[in-house]
Amino acid sequence: MDENLAKARALLAAASRIAVLTGAGISAESGIPTFRDAMSAAGPPQGARPPGGERREATIGGDHVAGPPQGAGPPGGERREATIGGGHTAGLWAQFRPEDLATPEAFAANPKVVWEWYAWRRERVAKAAPNAGHTALANLERRAAHFALITQNVDGLHRRAGSRNVIELHGNIMIDRCFAEGRVLAAADELPGTPPRCARCGALVRPGVVWFGEMLPPKALEDAFAAAQGCDVFLSIGTSTVVEPAASLPFAALDAGASVIEVNPTRTPLSARATIVLAGAAGEVLPRLLG
Ligand code: NAD
Repeated sequence: MDENLAKARALLAAASRIAVLTGAGISAESGIPTFRDAMSAAGPPQGARPPGGERREATIGGDHVAGPPQGAGPPGGERREATIGGGHTAGLWAQFRPEDLATPEAFAANPKVVWEWYAWRRERVAKAAPNAGHTALANLERRAAHFALITQNVDGLHRRAGSRNVIELHGNIMIDRCFAEGRVLAAADELPGTPPRCARCGALVRPGVVWFGEMLPPKALEDAFAAAQGCDVFLSIGTSTVVEPAASLPFAALDAGASVIEVNPTRTPLSARATIVLAGAAGEVLPRLLG
């Protein structure tokens, strides 16, 4: 690890363009569970069917998401997000898998359950604080000539740590949108109703995240691929690298000639191709790598 760490530090020192992709793993040490942790802690739901959605293991919106992606370029992709508290059993939603709640179909079929699950997650995010990994990346941005931080997370912890150029691929859990028109709604959660209704058109209010099966914001996706394909060094941190289109980003960087450094305690489909793998928790590895 020390030798790899030294090599990774040298690559970063020589780089003028740095791009970073983060996933749920970077927020794990802030107390926000990853999907995988949540599922292993809570176990599979017993005979529970999703409220309207269908159970998917490695597919999202019908797209196959496992395995290393072929080629580069934005697949024009679909996707979404979510997390549930390990072992938490309160709430009707506790019997569902995160992926089964994080779909437009689930919301349409059972808006109250999905809204309450997000309300619980928002509370958890509001109480969380950025950890040493988030802070190390914010510090890296201050001294890098060109820097982009692409995140799959919806928790906003990168900005709270001081990161500026953040590309949120999957939206932000603290934002509300109109389910019919997609407009961002301010302070909608203060309106009556579970979920509340849009004051303008009367449609349900939904959380401002990208759900499984939904398109990612085109500008964010375009910026993310441009950053990946234009960088010297690409850091892939705390992501299982199986959910498209984000999973294609490190491979797009590799195909464009960048060095890719992976930070993750477990191996992923990227590990075999990464230039350097730093096996460990982001909150421990990043301060050593970037400090
Ligand atoms: P994931 O749950 O699929 O995988 C998390 C990865 O993080 C795993 O590979 C795991 O080994 C790694 N990991 C766990 N602890 C770590 C640590 N301390 N340091 C570094 N790595 C660690 O997450 P994903 O790849 O981001 O994909 C799932 C989707 O769920 C994403 O789109 C994500 O946005 C969403 N999600 C978001 C949050 C959040 O906003 N905090 C939380 C859970 C899930």
